[in-house]
Amino acid sequence: MKHLIDPTDLSIEEIAEIIAVAEDIIANRDKYSDICRGKKLATLFYEPSTRTRLSFTAAMMELGGNVLGFADAKSSSVSKGETVQDTVRVINCFADIIAMRHKVEGAPLAATEVSRTPIINAGDGSHSHPTQTMTDLLTIKRELGTLNNLTIGLVGDLKYGRTVHSLIKAMSRYQNTKFILIAPPELALPDYIKHDVCDRYSIPYREVDNIESVIGEVDVLYMTRVQQERFTDLDEYERVKDCFVLDAAKMRGAKEHMAVLHPLPRVNEIAIDVDNDSRAAYFRQVENGKFVRMALILKLLEWQNDSERKFDHGGSDLGCKCPNKLCISNLEPVRKRFESVDGIIRCVYCESQAE
Ligand code: ASP
Repeated sequence: MKHLIDPTDLSIEEIAEIIAVAEDIIANRDKYSDICRGKKLATLFYEPSTRTRLSFTAAMMELGGNVLGFADAKSSSVSKGETVQDTVRVINCFADIIAMRHKVEGAPLAATEVSRTPIINAGDGSHSHPTQTMTDLLTIKRELGTLNNLTIGLVGDLKYGRTVHSLIKAMSRYQNTKFILIAPPELALPDYIKHDVCDRYSIPYREVDNIESVIGEVDVLYMTRVQQERFTDLDEYERVKDCFVLDAAKMRGAKEHMAVLHPLPRVNEIAIDVDNDSRAAYFRQVENGKFVRMALILKLLEWQNDSERKFDHGGSDLGCKCPNKLCISNLEPVRKRFESVDGIIRCVYCESQAE
């Protein structure tokens, strides 16, 4: 069985298969309209979401399947103190596949430890958001025709932006990728991504403090919002919230053939005068999200009984403690899982460096 917790749970061949199915769905909508009849998707959303939850719902409906679940932890048994693993054991009796969003990092991985059905991570805290990444990959492929030889500028909240973390992991596996990181020092990319992903796979990256000086180099400009809900110090949020704004004047310096992506919601980081630019791909990206989720649901259901498809994040109790207060290992009774990567011990659930 396969789950999708991190973008690297899928090989690049499996990603290519999913993208190919998504492209076939786009070309032949009718062929897929009844393919999941009798199947149920559970959406367990413990944290607010509009587009991801509705995108999953629309995806399953367009496949002819049904959807159940909750959009708010307060309306579930979590408010009575139920653990994520117990909730999943219960939902396994009702649904064939589960999409879970949680503010606690590692919660979807903990769910895989007990689940009899595929689990899809629909975003865990600041950690990971692999279905957004699948959306981004399909969008890049459709906009630019390739996933190789691309320079990707990532702008804004690279610290708390889980979509950025997942996209870097995914794009690092394609040929000749380069990253330009455009963020204030307070919102810089976490070291574990720089070290375990970029340095480890010798992916060139550089850090700059403005969009103008690099916009002419990038094939993809990935804009993000500053993640207000993750700040503990609101004064710091106020200081950085307006750090980088893309507008039509800046777009004049960009390549003719490039794409501006944004996982949305946008706050003020893309001025509305960019929306009519043909390179502004962020609303097309939303629709791609539905198609790629349709393809993902189909493939995970198909792979469920395929013993060749392995899922293993490894890790064991090395007598360590995870320092991350928002990690599932500190909040619920899950087994401890640590792993040594290049001499650094990390928590398998949230990738924080262990104490
Ligand atoms: N929708 C994306 C997410 O869930 C991006 C964002 O919220 O800024 O991470």
